[in-house]
Amino acid sequence: MRLFIFLLLAGACFLLYRHWSRQQTKAKLLAQPLSQEERETVEDAVPLVKRLPPELRLQLEGKINLFLNQVKFYGCNDFEIDDRMRLSIAAQACLLVVNTDSWYDTLRTILIYEGAFKSRNIEQEGYVITEQETVRIGESWARGPVILSWEHTEKGAQHHDGHNVVFHEFAHQIDNLSGHTDGAPLLHRNHDFADWKRVFVSAFDRHHNDVKQGRRTLIDAYGAQAIEEYFAVVVELFFERPIDLQYEEPEVYEQLSQLFKLDPMTWQ
Ligand SMILES: [Zn+2]
Repeated sequence: MRLFIFLLLAGACFLLYRHWSRQQTKAKLLAQPLSQEERETVEDAVPLVKRLPPELRLQLEGKINLFLNQVKFYGCNDFEIDDRMRLSIAAQACLLVVNTDSWYDTLRTILIYEGAFKSRNIEQEGYVITEQETVRIGESWARGPVILSWEHTEKGAQHHDGHNVVFHEFAHQIDNLSGHTDGAPLLHRNHDFADWKRVFVSAFDRHHNDVKQGRRTLIDAYGAQAIEEYFAVVVELFFERPIDLQYEEPEVYEQLSQLFKLDPMTWQ
């Protein structure tokens, strides 16, 4: 009996120590700035970072360290991965969580193709199962991994045209932190879910209708496919064309601003 109690206590101590040690490592990584060389690479690969207010830039660097410590990158079809790719993807992914406690807890793997890649989709409707092959530039799986085309990742970060595959796929990762990818991410304590739902459901309906009528829209037509896609495409605009999104859909901008605790319209 004594041996059992001893083993139980030893096990509990070990778990407590492991938790403490992980927290220590996490705090150290978050407090650590990037090296000058890494900083220059990030600024060159993701120019948007240069617009961030100084306090957010420090937070971003700590989160990039944490991200790179947690996530492994693999090249597909012998594609070789280098530090610029890792830093670029980490910086873009961390921009979405730079000012909140949200984190990609279950993400461990990022797969990178040189360019667009083929993906197999299996869909079931009743007893009918169909398999389709589609060409994609990015994919986000529930609880990870994320799959990206490097060609489109690099272009997306260089041009602030409202299209950014990394923001898109990581918006899905954030959406999925609630357990479902349904356009309803976990909100902070003071963020009213009824407001979120009202704004997003009506904005999605409006967009869906505009696309159906063949009208030109600021928001990518792909967002009309489903509300979770609408969420992902407006996240791309929120960071890359905040003024246009605020003008077009002020309530959507306001909701995203509350979600990310950011106001990109004010970044110079
Ligand atoms: Zn999507």
